[in-house]
Amino acid sequence: MKSALQKAEDKVKRASDALTKAKDDLLLVRKSLKVECSCGLQHSLGELTLTITHFYVEPYGYHGDYWTESDWYFVCPSGGYKNRLLFNDYNIPYEHRYELGRGAEVTFKHLYRNAFICIFPEYSKHGVQSAHNNVWIDNHRKDFGLPC
Ligand SMILES: [Zn+2]
Repeated sequence: MKSALQKAEDKVKRASDALTKAKDDLLLVRKSLKVECSCGLQHSLGELTLTITHFYVEPYGYHGDYWTESDWYFVCPSGGYKNRLLFNDYNIPYEHRYELGRGAEVTFKHLYRNAFICIFPEYSKHGVQSAHNNVWIDNHRKDFGLPC
């Protein structure tokens, strides 16, 4: 016969397992969402390689130099085209633009980081050249659960 403690622990374990399963299912749905690529086709996020660029910040005062995360690109699996994901959050006051659930870009980056097949960090002091600006996700915010 199980004690009250064991029953309560079992209940938490079942709920925890169910939560893990629900999160796994959610990730699979996010991976299956499609974005229109500059090649004209739609690709599932789960088949795309994500490049996360970083830009260099010079040392200033007592602060040393560092790299900070910047734009996200996905690479077309058919043609190798780079698509820079752009979001227009300029209608949001700057001090709120990077709040989760308020800015589309920050929210997308929080929710979808793991939806891509792999991530390449890219460090360049010169920025990324020859990429197509892609606003498809920004234009379909509702489909991605982003603030509209
Ligand atoms: Zn493509």
